[in-house]
Amino acid sequence: ASLMHLSGVWKIYQMGDTEFAALKNIDLEIQTGEFVVILGPSGSGKSTIMNLLGCLDMPNKGIVQLNGKDISKMQESELAQIRGQLIGFIFQQFNLIPILNVIENVMLPLEFQEENADYSWKKAEELLEIVNLSDKKYNLPSQLSGGQRQRVAIARSLAVDPMVILADEPTGNLDSTTGTYILDFLSELHKKESKTIIMITHDPELAEYADRVVHILDGTIERIEIRNNK
Ligand code: ADP
Ligand code: ADP
Repeated sequence: ASLMHLSGVWKIYQMGDTEFAALKNIDLEIQTGEFVVILGPSGSGKSTIMNLLGCLDMPNKGIVQLNGKDISKMQESELAQIRGQLIGFIFQQFNLIPILNVIENVMLPLEFQEENADYSWKKAEELLEIVNLSDKKYNLPSQLSGGQRQRVAIARSLAVDPMVILADEPTGNLDSTTGTYILDFLSELHKKESKTIIMITHDPELAEYADRVVHILDGTIERIEIRNNK
């Protein structure tokens, strides 16, 4: 089924008197259970697409649909709920809260959802087991390696059981061995749990994990490549 659908999408940034079209008439449909990589050089419009897919921004023209619903017709409260419950975000900079320990970081999205504390704790413990970090529960992010920090971020992104994970250059700050480990991990998650994953990157090597590679250049889709990774 179609999970996210961009049709005829334009994003125009205003800079003083001039306008800049960062996305030009983008059509892209993402199906539930896909692993899609959006690949393009710096400045090609990847983050702009990601912000639309993450319901963090609205197009100037065209339609963005989530589960068949036009996001521009949603109330801010509904968008906030989608961002909090349906979408898991992973970033290059990990974005962990430095003063919270590992398990507290993982529990945070559940606390925002006002889950009961016992449930949140148990769920966070389970997730830390999955990412193989049970022994670092009480450590602060500063006491972890880059790869470990990203695994905490992945555990956190999974806490609310999102229907899609949006990953923005998730290995950008990791050495290549650790990066491969993180990608293998996301790939497993995709295969075993049928998680929908959308990853943006400038690195063609990361595209090998995808079912589909969307090549973007200067705000347009150049071509879409189907891979057979199933
Ligand atoms: P990528 O993620 O592929 O590097 P972006 O989506 O960040 O690309 O940016 C696409 C283009 O839009 C770039 O030329 C960038 O300079 C421009 N851009 C991005 N955000 C803004 C903004 N807030 N205001 C003006 N221009 C922007
Ligand atoms: P670092 O960032 O210090 O390289 P990693 O996050 O890569 O740390 O690895 C931390 C832990 O995960 C280590 O104990 C390591 O044994 C384990 N690990 C790393 N890569 C793999 C892998 N490919 N398969 C299984 N375990 C791994």
